Amino acid sequence: MRVIDIITGEKPSLSFEVFPPKTSDNFESIRVATENIAGLNPSYMSVTYGAGGGTSRFTVDIAANIQKKFNVPALAHLSCISSTHQGVREQMDAIRAAGIENVLALRGDLPADAASGNGWDYKYATELVREMVDYGGFCIGAACYPEGHPESAHQKDDIAYLKEKVDAGCQFLVTQMFFDNNILYNFLYKIREAGITVPVVAGIMPVTNARQIGRIVSLSGCALPQRFRYIVDRFGSDDAAMRQAGIAYATEQIVDLYANGINAVHVYSMNNAHVAAKIQENLSDIVK
Ligand code: FAD
Repeated sequence: MRVIDIITGEKPSLSFEVFPPKTSDNFESIRVATENIAGLNPSYMSVTYGAGGGTSRFTVDIAANIQKKFNVPALAHLSCISSTHQGVREQMDAIRAAGIENVLALRGDLPADAASGNGWDYKYATELVREMVDYGGFCIGAACYPEGHPESAHQKDDIAYLKEKVDAGCQFLVTQMFFDNNILYNFLYKIREAGITVPVVAGIMPVTNARQIGRIVSLSGCALPQRFRYIVDRFGSDDAAMRQAGIAYATEQIVDLYANGINAVHVYSMNNAHVAAKIQENLSDIVK
């Protein structure tokens, strides 16, 4: 089933993101974790793609497994930075051969040696979207950043490039995480004004331990509202309490999103089936 049909349906959608193993050594443990999440029967699941292509095969393997075994539609991420046209085409062949029709087209984070860029055929995700459209048959999504992409000096430019990406043939967008829903509502206003009309899926990260936070902020540049900081200050040193508070905070964000007409929410579950199950349980009478 195509993600575009799921997220534009009457029913609110609740989906989960998982990541594949880095090496074959931990394939089994990650397969089990992703199966436990698939067993919750979410609207769909996305499987990330490792920078540099190291885990590309596992992305397709994990995505195909949850789709085949649990009948949960899979959205395979595919990033193009440091790839060649030939390499990307092989990835698309593999995704198609595995029966996966949904792809999130990404540039990927610039590796440390990005300056060399030798042999790389891509600069931006828009180029990948164009190539996927030419390839044909995929339901194509892409990333967007309610607080602006960290490399963009001005949000206006970021939104102009986002429009280019959507116009290239991307059918839906998934947001970077955010911890204050007003940031998303303002962003939606701005992109609609800029003529971007495709559905936007809200990405929510349940923060379940205080150690995650520094990394999240440094990678994504997300603002942490004072209300959230108080929770971390109070519960951060107690893992169980922080997990419960983080799940409650994410649940509250999601309820507010649904209440305000955002019908599609994607939870960055980090392969944590307990967190995914708790969030789904908290929303069981809302997403039914
Ligand atoms: P782009 O859309 O190419 O944008 C990158 C930057 O370039 C932006 O600042 C944009 O404004 C700018 N830009 C775009 N076009 C132009 C142009 N023509 N001229 C000048 N500037 C331009 N990374 C992974 O490695 N694997 C994953 O699985 C993964 N999943 C993700 C899922 C989501 C929902 C999100 C939000 C991010 C994900 N990422 C993933 C991270 C993502 O790859 C990085 O944020 C990356 O830095 C940007 O990727 P993009 O596809 O948004 O790039």
